[in-house]
Amino acid sequence: MKGKLIIFSAPSGAGKTTIVHHLLKTFPNLSFSISATTREQRGEEVHGQDYYFISQESFLHKIAQKEFVEFEEVYNGTFYGTLRSEIERIWAQGKHVIFDIDVEGGLHLKRKYGEQALAIFVQPPSLEVLIERLTGRGTDLPEKLAERIRKADKELKYADKFDVILKNFELETACKEAEQLVSDFLSKTDILL
Ligand code: 5GP
Repeated sequence: MKGKLIIFSAPSGAGKTTIVHHLLKTFPNLSFSISATTREQRGEEVHGQDYYFISQESFLHKIAQKEFVEFEEVYNGTFYGTLRSEIERIWAQGKHVIFDIDVEGGLHLKRKYGEQALAIFVQPPSLEVLIERLTGRGTDLPEKLAERIRKADKELKYADKFDVILKNFELETACKEAEQLVSDFLSKTDILL
């Protein structure tokens, strides 16, 4: 079996992580692509589950070894990337890969995998709501928060480059719609893999 890729992208705070977690509980044949990052581990996060937390040196080494399918300096000085080995690990288990990744990374994967991938943009109600959510999280220092907000504002303009725009105005509705999208995409057999 050749696996598929389901890509969830959105500005930080749009709710994509919650939707992705919901889908992982709903579809046992999906598995989460654990990205590598140089950012510091936050409170509840687990290495090898949420991310592979690695040093900048190790990240740069992996770039040189061409181990990434895509990578980016998502925030100033902080790298995130999808390891080729991660996608292969999941496909080898007979599962499809689901991604929680930023907008540029998402579009990069879509360009690379074409019909094999479904790229979903999660749209928050407005930039104002997004700012409220990011501020309420209380996980970031003020300058980091300002950087996330600037990036979110820019990313909102990329929505129409995705296969689908999923509005997350109400979480339960968005989760149901996401289930339908994934179920339709996984049952499609007419794509050339
Ligand atoms: P956070 O620091 O909030 O966990 O993630 C910051 C941003 O980086 C989020 O938009 C997240 O989806 C994105 N991200 C996580 N992993 C990757 C990755 O492998 N590649 C890219 N391009 N972005 C990623």
